[in-house]
Amino acid sequence: MSDELGTDELTVDGLRTYLHCPRRYELASVHDLEGSDDDTVDDRIALLRGAICDALRSGATDRERLDDVARDRLATYWADYDEHFHSHTQRRHERRALEATLAAYVERVGTDHAAGLAQLGADTAHGELIGPDLPLSSTVSLPEATVADDADAVTIGATVDYVTGDGSSLVGVRFVPTLGSLGPLRYRSDWEGDVATLFTDHFDPESNAFEPGPVGALLETAVVLDGLRTLRDRLELGDRTCCYLQIPLADRSGLTVNWVRDTVETSLEVADLTEVYVDHHTFGMTHDHRNETVDSRLAAVTAALRSHSFDPTDRWDRIAEHACPDCEYTVCCQDHIAAEVRFDG
Ligand code: SF4
Repeated sequence: MSDELGTDELTVDGLRTYLHCPRRYELASVHDLEGSDDDTVDDRIALLRGAICDALRSGATDRERLDDVARDRLATYWADYDEHFHSHTQRRHERRALEATLAAYVERVGTDHAAGLAQLGADTAHGELIGPDLPLSSTVSLPEATVADDADAVTIGATVDYVTGDGSSLVGVRFVPTLGSLGPLRYRSDWEGDVATLFTDHFDPESNAFEPGPVGALLETAVVLDGLRTLRDRLELGDRTCCYLQIPLADRSGLTVNWVRDTVETSLEVADLTEVYVDHHTFGMTHDHRNETVDSRLAAVTAALRSHSFDPTDRWDRIAEHACPDCEYTVCCQDHIAAEVRFDG
């Protein structure tokens, strides 16, 4: 991981890490220390992301053809995939699970999204709207006198896997392992109410709330929607409103295996983060999918990060309870080690 502070560009992944624990961000992105993460899930969904993007790039819009191309591409990627499995049966099962996920994608949204790409125009669609890892960015103006290096704006990068059309909307789609980190956002359809409270409570020093997953997703949505607006304007795609979807490709909770018939099936959930991000007041003022509360907090978090504010002690209890237990840096983190020593002593 590169030292993000050495450049003018941060990433939403970096912001998300910072929300969990500023020290974790420092260890990962400033000191460039490797965590102990198992990348197996990411490697597996990379196969699916590649296969789906190739299928969309082929221009196929009918279900059968889209499914065929995606399966063919998955077979090619799978042939070069060298994860160690305990047995031939396990490797075969994993491939069947990936194929079932592909089929569920095509059934749930694949044909609609392929048609949306075609609607945007073949040249544009095939050239600049299909990834994986299509870069987007948003330039965030920082509050005055909040950073040490006098920067007044910082570019924050994000990625989506493709961009499609849906009526008068431009839709960015990102494949993720699961939707678990969204917490209650999965089950809400409005900003007003629970989501607004969750967001503001996370930053309230008087509150015990600690919700870096959902809060990070809302900051990411702000960056992605702004990046989509920039892309829309650059490609002259009219005045479409922009939306952001996440689709989980490693969620096995809906997987069913019929060992007798030797079949594997699954279903796919799609999370529309636009609905929980947009607040009606800002939308009424700008006619854009924006949220003034989230956008100003994005600027404040970015400014804190740029100011090298990495000390976790001002919210230590919340970090120690929720972030330390699954942190990859416990063995080299002085804050954590010092707390353990205090506890033992
Ligand atoms: S061990 Fe705890 S304090 Fe240290 S970096 Fe990880 S989350 Fe932060």
